[in-house]
Amino acid sequence: MQLVLDLANVSDDTSYFRKHWLVDATNQTLTQRRAEIRRALESPEACAEAISRWWTCSFARGSFLYFVRGQLAANPGDLESALAVVMATFRDVISLCANPGCDVVFRRSRSTQRFCDKAACTHYAAREHKRKWWKKHGKKWRADRR
Ligand SMILES: [Zn+2]
Repeated sequence: MQLVLDLANVSDDTSYFRKHWLVDATNQTLTQRRAEIRRALESPEACAEAISRWWTCSFARGSFLYFVRGQLAANPGDLESALAVVMATFRDVISLCANPGCDVVFRRSRSTQRFCDKAACTHYAAREHKRKWWKKHGKKWRADRR
């Protein structure tokens, strides 16, 4: 799970990611996987397509899936099979932050959560909530005050 979040948010220089996760892949492959994860978040169809592509690529290298305590698992050394398993298992809780100025992929703690937990995004969410409230109730609120 964390590997997918880290890869989805990795900068164009992936050297820290590679060292931290001991991933033996080129910078170009990793930035391509980053784009694929982000595209996979756009719709269930895009996600299914990405999972199929990652899994096909993995299977061709001789990788297999297995179960650990009832949970589907992949060889942790095989990036594409790990991406396939994590996205198949956790797609529902992985989101792109709805703050247009943020661009972070995060794990939701509630199904309705739309913003990541950075302070700027919490403030943005509060402002957006107030703006919507005023748009919906402002006229009546002002009229009632007269
Ligand atoms: Zn955010």
